Amino acid sequence: MNVGILGATGAVGQKFIRLLQNHPWFKITQLGASERSASKKYKEAANWIEDVSLPTEIAEMTVSSCSPKEFKNVDFVFSGLDSSVAGEIERKFAESGIPVISNAKNFRMDESVPLLVPEVNPDHIELIKNQKFTADRSGWIVTNPNCVAVPLSLSLKPLHDVFGIETVILTTMQAISGAGYPGVPSLDILGNVVPFISGEEPKIKPETQKLLSVFNEGKLDEPEINVSATATRVPTLNGHMLSATVKLVNTPSSVNEVKEAILNWDNPIQDLNLPSSPTPVICLHEDERYPQPRLHADQENGMQLHMGRLRESDVFDISYVAMAHNTIRGAAGGAILNAELLKVKGFLG
Ligand code: NAP
Repeated sequence: MNVGILGATGAVGQKFIRLLQNHPWFKITQLGASERSASKKYKEAANWIEDVSLPTEIAEMTVSSCSPKEFKNVDFVFSGLDSSVAGEIERKFAESGIPVISNAKNFRMDESVPLLVPEVNPDHIELIKNQKFTADRSGWIVTNPNCVAVPLSLSLKPLHDVFGIETVILTTMQAISGAGYPGVPSLDILGNVVPFISGEEPKIKPETQKLLSVFNEGKLDEPEINVSATATRVPTLNGHMLSATVKLVNTPSSVNEVKEAILNWDNPIQDLNLPSSPTPVICLHEDERYPQPRLHADQENGMQLHMGRLRESDVFDISYVAMAHNTIRGAAGGAILNAELLKVKGFLG
């Protein structure tokens, strides 16, 4: 399938380009960014920050503006657009009959837009049928969650299925690549921790509740889950680490029962063998020093969720840490996995 990338010059856009090289199903045929970049060759428009060489055929492509008329020959687009412009641009693409698979926050909480992590809520893709961007329903929008809600929901899902989740107290340690490029000034972050990320904490609870909702007769039934989150920026490059303490609805008899729930959890998309699907999805570490962003964020092509330090909590039921690559599993890689699921489910033709 021919795919376009909106926001192709940004941190997430570059990750899309890297991950789509040699993809068995998807080929990049169009790149879009702001008017600052439009009409330039990609190698002149983008400051390439990936640690592999910029592919020659991409380097020579001309970047266009993010207007649907420039993307006539694509089957769908991925969006890594800045949220200040993503709402309007993504709507125009959907209204032009071009499906949009987006990383931006703008449509995540729209009740007819799936907020999708394929292993957590694959049935939510049916919400697409409620969208009315075009009369023939050819244009639609699917989003992936923010880069904290992805590892949080993946780590909670096996626990929610068996015990139910009541309350989560969360502290995040988020990598600097999460702020895009050029991101956080070096004088703020080197040798430092910044205990605030603008706009981050308010997204975590609603996105997690939506992800763990039950799809019922065309609508989502949201669970009542309390989430109190503190988001911090730390001087790691890639991989957001979360420290979670969780109160479960049904108290487990021991921490071993929780461990069994994680290890025995059935990944609902395992049998589809999607190209970007990691095996296993969750790696539960026994070594108390693990997971660590530098050692584990890139494993399984950056698509795996790492959990560790699983232990009884003195306050609630359990505590653990979870970590996933923020620009891969938490952004571009997650969106590509969404596209793969949408393709095998027949939504992408
Ligand atoms: P970024 O590095 O700042 O890139 C933003 C992109 O948007 C660039 O390609 C930029 O093009 C384009 N853009 C800006 N203004 C535009 C306009 N008026 N018209 C068309 N294109 C425009 O940001 P990022 O980190 O890649 O994040 C992209 C999106 O993904 C954001 O919505 C972010 O919240 C979300 N996200 C990021 C992460 C992460 O870990 N970084 C994780 C999950 C979700 P120019 O180069 O031409 O300015």
